[in-house]
Amino acid sequence: MPKYEEPLFRPPAEAGSLIFQVARGCPHNTCRFCGMYKGVRYALRDPEETLAEFAHTAGLYPEARRIFLADGDVMQLPFATLEAYLTALNSFFPRLNRVNVYANGSSILAKNAEQLAELRRLKLNTLYLGFESGSQKVLDLVSKGEKVDAMVDAVRLAQKCGLRASVMILLGLGGKIYSAEHARLTAAALNRMQPRLLSALRFVEVPGTVMFDGFETLSEYEAVSELRDIVAGLEMTKTVFRANHTSNPVPLEGRLPHNKAELLRTLGSQLESGDLDKNGPGFTPLFL
Ligand code: SF4
Repeated sequence: MPKYEEPLFRPPAEAGSLIFQVARGCPHNTCRFCGMYKGVRYALRDPEETLAEFAHTAGLYPEARRIFLADGDVMQLPFATLEAYLTALNSFFPRLNRVNVYANGSSILAKNAEQLAELRRLKLNTLYLGFESGSQKVLDLVSKGEKVDAMVDAVRLAQKCGLRASVMILLGLGGKIYSAEHARLTAAALNRMQPRLLSALRFVEVPGTVMFDGFETLSEYEAVSELRDIVAGLEMTKTVFRANHTSNPVPLEGRLPHNKAELLRTLGSQLESGDLDKNGPGFTPLFL
């Protein structure tokens, strides 16, 4: 087995992937809403040790087709390192089909189009990007350290180079005060971005998160209402949309634009049902 150091996170879609931890923690680790790597000091794994682990694991799982490279924002590794790791994985795993990673907008834009296309040729496939909000004010308040326009450009460039962007937004990230702005500007930015995969998760306070002054958590009803406003504002041309993470009060999934009216009907029925908590967040999972 590869060597892991806890905590180890991966997107739900990577449940069946072979995982290698090529770095520890997150190189940014500033986001107020994220408790994933708080307390973990960011460090790269030794490249020789990592390559030896690839070779050893290939002997155990020679048929592996999907690989996820952890931890946070692996796209931030220098191009030469990513190229070397992908080249090695291609040679050790003859049936390799795709390699996926977490990425930030700035780390994608630190590579040029030729480099991104070369990484794609080496089977880098899906970039999981936490976009969170299309409101720069909200991003700044939660110390995301990224620009809305840069993340839009990054996704467009990555997709133009053949990579697939799986973009996450966070319902309730602006709290009550910025909810309307968060919904309106997130939909507008997503329309410019046109991600192939879009997931809406709900912000839930977890240990390690300290939100900005004046932040008030949305009630369950308000979170669903915010999602309805975002979906209503989306003009996607070809996007798989999911809001089925355990943090979402109403599990949803559909293709946009095809299922937009249906998604809005479901959200409207939930809002009218009287089942949603209007005074508090309702059921919230213990982790995001
Ligand atoms: S949200 Fe992403 S970039 Fe921000 S601290 Fe968490 S892992 Fe790092």
